[in-house]
Amino acid sequence: MKNIVLLGAPGAGKGTQAALIAKEYNIPHISTGDILRRNIKEQTELGKLAKSYIDKGALVPDEVVIDIVKDRLSESDAQNGYILDGFPRTIAQAEALSKVAKIDIALNIIVPFETIIERLSGRRVCICGETSHVNVLKGNETCPKCGQKMFIRDDDKPETVKNRLDVYEKQTAPLIGFYEKAGVLVDINATSVEDTFEAVKEALNK
Ligand code: AMP
Repeated sequence: MKNIVLLGAPGAGKGTQAALIAKEYNIPHISTGDILRRNIKEQTELGKLAKSYIDKGALVPDEVVIDIVKDRLSESDAQNGYILDGFPRTIAQAEALSKVAKIDIALNIIVPFETIIERLSGRRVCICGETSHVNVLKGNETCPKCGQKMFIRDDDKPETVKNRLDVYEKQTAPLIGFYEKAGVLVDINATSVEDTFEAVKEALNK
C-alpha cells in the first residue's frame, strides 16, 4: 500500500477521511494531533510542552513533531503503507520527512471556509480518536465508538480557531506547492463524508 499524506485546513475532515482510509486499506493512521493530545492527557513531559503551543493555536516546534513521526514510522506496522494526518505542517517538516520516507500521494482536501468554521465550532472529540459533531450527536455526549464522554477540544474555541487558520495559511498551505512540485499532489473537493471518501479511493486506486 501507499505512503499517504493528507493536506487540508483544520476542520477539512482529514481525521475522518484518514480513519476511513486506514480501515479500508488496513494501514496505520498516524495523527500527530492525536499523539500530542494523548500525551497531554497522560501528562507526560512531551504533553506538558505541547499543551502550551496547542492551547494558543500555535504549532509545536518542528524538531519535536519530526522526532515523534520518525519514531512512529520505524514501527513494524508502518512498513507497508501508512496515512499521515496533520503532518507535515511546515516545509521544514516535509523536507525532514522526505529524507526518511517516500511519499506516494498527497491528498489535498479542499473545503469552503464557511464549512470549516461550522465544523470546528460544533466539533466534539473522544480521547480514543473518534470525532463527531453536535449536529450528529444531537445532545448525546458519549462516544459512538467506545462510550467515553466526548469533549470540545480546547483549541476549537473561537479565538484559537482564528489563530489556527492563520497558521494554516502561512505555514501549512505552502505544502500544496511542495507536493505539487514533487508530482504527487491530488486535489479532492470535499462534499459529504461518503462522496469525499469515494473520490479519495479513486485517487488511491489509480
Ligand atoms: P490537529 O489535531 O492535527 O488539528 O492538531 C492539533 C494541534 O496539535 C495543532 O494545532 C498544533 O498545535 C499541534 N500539531 C499537530 N500536528 C502538528 C505538526 N505536524 N506540527 C506542529 N504542531 C502540530
